[in-house]
Amino acid sequence: MAGMPYSRSAYRNWSGKFVWPRLTLPGQCHACGQWSWQALCPTCTRLGDAPSDGYASICVAAKLYVSPWKELITAFKFEGQVGLAYFLAQQMRQTPAIAQRLDACDWLVPVPLSAKRLRDRGFNQALVLAKQLCPERTLGQALIRLRDTPAQSGLSRSDRLVNLHHAFIVNPHGLPRLRDSRVVLVDDVTTTGSTLLACTQALQAAGVAQVDAVVLARTPA
Ligand SMILES: [Zn+2]
Repeated sequence: MAGMPYSRSAYRNWSGKFVWPRLTLPGQCHACGQWSWQALCPTCTRLGDAPSDGYASICVAAKLYVSPWKELITAFKFEGQVGLAYFLAQQMRQTPAIAQRLDACDWLVPVPLSAKRLRDRGFNQALVLAKQLCPERTLGQALIRLRDTPAQSGLSRSDRLVNLHHAFIVNPHGLPRLRDSRVVLVDDVTTTGSTLLACTQALQAAGVAQVDAVVLARTPA
């Protein structure tokens, strides 16, 4: 071992963190590897449809946050595969309850990231999805996230709501357009719906007449 520039334990530590590049080629299904003209083949696309149940009172989801959607959303958000947005937005548009809300609204408002998170990631995934759904009605700057909230995971729903209190405000420049309008909030993933509720409250306080929320995926109950 003498003379080695790194210790065996340091190597193990490094190799544990290394993320091997995805080995699917363009034209292969991300889940099963079959040749496919879209990110998932038709069979895998049908996996994980969100059931229409009581959760719809909080928001309408296209999919459950399970395989293969979990991996696809991770690739979209964290591995820079922004090109998946078209396919992911298509899944939202093809969910009848989502299409109906999109068609009936005046504006699409993406859930914003904090300035710091936006700098780190380089793009807001909710804005990218909203622009795919309807670019001409998307108000990308309507909401402002004032601060990053401490990590939400591990908190109960009520604690999450306290955590998010006053985290969002409506951009004063957008107020005239939003007043008395019908808004659809757009996000990629929701767990308890507490972020969507905090955004809804901010929009309602600014005089928005109706707020519905749609997401690509929600965690299973
Ligand atoms: Zn497949």
